[in-house]
Amino acid sequence: MRKKRAAKPVTTSVAASLAHPLPLEWPRYTTQEYYSWMMDRMPKDTIPADWSKHKPHNGAPIFWYQDQSKKCVDCGVEFVFSKEEQKHWFEELTIPIYVEANRCKDCRATVRKAKVAQKLHMEEMEKIVPHPNEAFFRRKT
Ligand SMILES: [Zn+2]
Repeated sequence: MRKKRAAKPVTTSVAASLAHPLPLEWPRYTTQEYYSWMMDRMPKDTIPADWSKHKPHNGAPIFWYQDQSKKCVDCGVEFVFSKEEQKHWFEELTIPIYVEANRCKDCRATVRKAKVAQKLHMEEMEKIVPHPNEAFFRRKT
């Protein structure tokens, strides 16, 4: 005769099974203990991140910002995505934290200028009054 397995303890929710229930202000993916454990190991030359200012996300949290060396996708120049810049991006501009800088400062400025120019161009185009026979010149599809 088959032996009956011992019944598993029934847990209603993960939160109820935790030894230290999380206070509401802590994100679900961490505890205060884990946070302090990580912050004790914070490398030098980094800035601690302020989670309350991050845009809501489902990814792993960033505990601190560190300078990242990157290669520009447009011109191929090596550049540094600095920790101060990251803080500005993720906390003041509230850009999602998984966004990476792919372009150097000069190329970023070029892209921005092109976008502004395009917007101005489209605004100018809107002001143009169409020719009365405009429909005649349209391509028939
Ligand atoms: Zn570049």
